[in-house]
Amino acid sequence: MMRLNNGIEMPALGFGVFQITDLAICEQTVLTALKTGYRLIDTAATYGNEAAVGRAIKRSGIDRKTLFISSKVWIQDAGYDKTMASFEKTLTNLQTDYLDLYLIHMPYGDYHGSWLAMEELYEAGKIKAIGVCNFEANRLVDLILSHHIIPAVNQIEMHPFWQEKALRSVMAHYDIQTMAWAPFAEGQQQLFTNPTLTAIGAKYHKTAAQVVLRWLQQSEIIPIPKSIHAERIVQNFATTDFTLSDPDLVQIEALDQNKPLILNISDVNEVYRLHEITFKQ
Ligand code: NAP
Repeated sequence: MMRLNNGIEMPALGFGVFQITDLAICEQTVLTALKTGYRLIDTAATYGNEAAVGRAIKRSGIDRKTLFISSKVWIQDAGYDKTMASFEKTLTNLQTDYLDLYLIHMPYGDYHGSWLAMEELYEAGKIKAIGVCNFEANRLVDLILSHHIIPAVNQIEMHPFWQEKALRSVMAHYDIQTMAWAPFAEGQQQLFTNPTLTAIGAKYHKTAAQVVLRWLQQSEIIPIPKSIHAERIVQNFATTDFTLSDPDLVQIEALDQNKPLILNISDVNEVYRLHEITFKQ
């Protein structure tokens, strides 16, 4: 478990459900993840699958108090009133009366208004911790200086090819927990057969995927890998029974290309593209 800056404990490894758009598959996949032992499930309003996650949680019969459910408010719902309404829909979809973690999904639109709503929901006990995603250092510090609650989490693209060292040093100053989205870079640049990662893995009878997840956990970063395949869901969870050596960690650090592969948040074309994404919650 990781302790957040507000004292709340959060599992050190989670399961993400981005791009699992078939709701029956999503429900079954989350059920498999819960049965495997994952207790942190990461969804978002814009993924369109919160209700399937909620059904899986219910079907699992697992005590809600032992789960850690995270969701996110999208750009179309930025601002105080719309965030309040979106949050209520998220709770209904997930069949729960509180969230463990609620995140601003993108640093666009009236996210300061969203943050005011989230601070209020947090203080009312309806959210255990609040945070952001994809905030670069300047926006993160601006948010902190403008409000009274420091984000507990920043969920960012992070994998061996983009290690976010400069941002993470700012986050460390405020004790903000990193959650790594796309820990496998969504398979880009042949991560699963990368020679460095597979050679390190061979020493421990582990795959490249398992090496990446272990590296993140040893770096006190919470990865949320996604898979729809049961054997991979199990494989990705089996990442706490070995320890990478210091030379292994140095080799993985050397894979950093120091730029994002999936989302360049400061690219104006991304602002246009992301603003265009709307959905019915
Ligand atoms: P990812 O976890 O890096 O990669 C998922 C891909 O890897 C899928 O194609 C999956 O294939 C494959 N895979 C998983 N385990 C594997 C294994 N052991 N061996 C070989 N292939 C494997 O990418 P992601 O889904 O984009 O990121 C993870 C989570 O982060 C998301 O689900 C979401 O919760 C979150 N996220 C957040 C943001 C944000 O803006 N906050 C953005 C993106 C993602 P199969 O499914 O076919 O097995």
